[in-house]
Amino acid sequence: MTATPTIDGSQPVSAAPTLDVEAVRREFPILERLIGKARLVYLDNAASTQRPLAVLDAERDFETHAYSNVHRGVHTLSQEATEAYEGARERVRRFLGAADAREVIFLRGTTEAINLVAQSYGRAEVSAGDNMVVSEMEHHSNIVPWQMLCQERGAELRVLPMDDDGELILEELDRLLDERTRIVAVGAVSNALGTINPIAEIARRVHDAGAVLVVDGAQAVPHQQVDVQAMGADFFAFSAHKVYGPSGVGALWGRRELLEAMPPWQGGGSMIQSVRFDQTTYAPLPAKFEAGTPEIVGAVGLAAALDFVDRWGMEAISAHETRLLERACAQLDDLPGVRRIGNARRRASVLSFLLDGIHAHDVGTLLDRDGIAVRAGHHCAQPVMQHYGVASTTRASFGIYNTEEEVDRLVEAVRRTQEFFA
Ligand code: PLP
Repeated sequence: MTATPTIDGSQPVSAAPTLDVEAVRREFPILERLIGKARLVYLDNAASTQRPLAVLDAERDFETHAYSNVHRGVHTLSQEATEAYEGARERVRRFLGAADAREVIFLRGTTEAINLVAQSYGRAEVSAGDNMVVSEMEHHSNIVPWQMLCQERGAELRVLPMDDDGELILEELDRLLDERTRIVAVGAVSNALGTINPIAEIARRVHDAGAVLVVDGAQAVPHQQVDVQAMGADFFAFSAHKVYGPSGVGALWGRRELLEAMPPWQGGGSMIQSVRFDQTTYAPLPAKFEAGTPEIVGAVGLAAALDFVDRWGMEAISAHETRLLERACAQLDDLPGVRRIGNARRRASVLSFLLDGIHAHDVGTLLDRDGIAVRAGHHCAQPVMQHYGVASTTRASFGIYNTEEEVDRLVEAVRRTQEFFA
């Protein structure tokens, strides 16, 4: 029997390991919360996932017993904190399939990581008359830093368009790339549409043109097994709070030779080798890009989150979310008056939709009355909204702990919302 192709295209769901969702849910006490009289259905995972006890406990345990500043102290606590922090770096290296932990820079998250690349690599490499490319489906954090860079340098920002299904038009990429293209910045998975972009294919074309590829991995990390080397990225950014970790921390991975050649970004403590008024020299990687005291507890939480994901297995998580997405799409497609936004062949976890004649915010508000947490708005992707001629959508996004019953509750609540406004 041939396996049915799945919505995320990576592997047949039927062949993937199954997930014991009830056991997963026991690790998230927040899911027992009542919103009014209804049990919470948390479908805002693309904004921030919830944190399991393993993450909360790891943070609390570290804070209770081993907290101190890192790198500077000779005392026991400082050494233990440094070990935990550097251990987290090694954990991220393994998660990303990177060759060297020194290529992993801890930052506040995806936004800060992209700003670092724009302001350090970008300022050094992009000159007047150069150009760079971003896609039409990017999150604002993978647009605005590049706009700022291009304005400053007198460079051109080119846009790789998508079609109405929400798929990038790769032939257009070949047209946009030329000998003056320095950087291409693309999201691995769209937060507004769920589209999984063919990063390895894009990387090949970008490198053939002599440019570097910056991958916004914010929505990829909770869903895909990431291998930054296999995908051919030059830089890869992600945030812990999208992958069951804390907010305020994330990482940038970059190819070592690129990072080594880049000028430091922020100046301050920890990023120097020696400071004199006539000359300062900088620390080697990764410290060169980590000025000041980092988010130490957050890094510990991130490492615990990656352990959590590994424990359940990315293959099983991804297949589970895919089943939920397929179920939700099929049921919503059966309801009249529902317009789904984004229908790419390969999609992950995200379901954006509109109800005829009802504002997305009203949909979100009514769903909340049934305990269902979704996001309504432009999802920091206004160019995507402009493509479809809408101001906002309602977005449900699935995570490891969501169930088929919750999908059914969502669909039922959507139906009731339509009735309410009828
Ligand atoms: N890129 C994408 C695709 C996202 O979904 C998000 C967050 O929603 C970001 C970037 C920004 O992430 P952060 O706010 O953690 O920096």
